[in-house]
Amino acid sequence: MELFGLVDCNNFYCSCERVFHPDLIGKPVVVLSNNDGCVIARSNEAKALGLKMGDPFYQVKDMLEKNNVAVFSSNYNLYGDMSKRVMSLLSRYTPKLTQYSIDEAFLDLTGIDNLQEYGKEIVRKVGKGTGIPVSLGIAPTKTLAKMASKYAKKYKGYEGVCLIDTDEKREKALKLFEVGDVWGIGHRNTKKLEYYGIKTAWNLTQKSASWVQKELSITGLRTWKELQGESCISIEELPHKKSICTSRSFPGVGLDKLQDLEEAVANFAASCSRKLRDDHIAW
Ligand SMILES: [Mg+2]
Repeated sequence: MELFGLVDCNNFYCSCERVFHPDLIGKPVVVLSNNDGCVIARSNEAKALGLKMGDPFYQVKDMLEKNNVAVFSSNYNLYGDMSKRVMSLLSRYTPKLTQYSIDEAFLDLTGIDNLQEYGKEIVRKVGKGTGIPVSLGIAPTKTLAKMASKYAKKYKGYEGVCLIDTDEKREKALKLFEVGDVWGIGHRNTKKLEYYGIKTAWNLTQKSASWVQKELSITGLRTWKELQGESCISIEELPHKKSICTSRSFPGVGLDKLQDLEEAVANFAASCSRKLRDDHIAW
């Protein structure tokens, strides 16, 4: 059986900052976009305070101060450098590594014995060697590996590794996973799917292939197959985005001051450039 590992660095930008400020481990940290427009990375402690991605800095400034949150301007040279260190360490553990974004990589783990232990060793070594905590999901398809990495991050007891290598584990993972969080499905489809009673990844796998192709196109069908354990997305053809978008609607009657509009556009532009950098489309 083919097996893929997906390594994802936890709260990457915040973790990079902590490498050089170890006193901040266990404390709330956020990183702001260019020109300090909005929040683009949060440590777990910052998430627990209710801070959201894209929160405009001026709106949360007082709250950050009140809660002693450490605030950093983004430093992409540092993040790029730390990313290289993580990738170079990871490459020791696989004959084939494919970097997917600044903080994610797929590893070919086919044919390796005792993967649970091997995986924990990878997580430990990267953590020790770089100071960056990572999560590792291992599964027979890339879509399931991505899902497993989220479980690895979520449950402390997993020690950073979640292995989905049996149908039983796959079924359990699918049943607890919201369909909109599935890689390649996305939240744009959740309303439609919910209308058909599809809330979890498992619900989706219970639909027929023809139904899925009709409602979610050929791309959705491939995701559906991957969720069933059939690997059909090769690393070379992983989704490469053709467009990047950040959009919000304004509450009430909208904006009536030019300054507010300028601020909003600046924040959205910063969010888009972050997405571009994350996908290595720009630096
Ligand atoms: Mg990450």
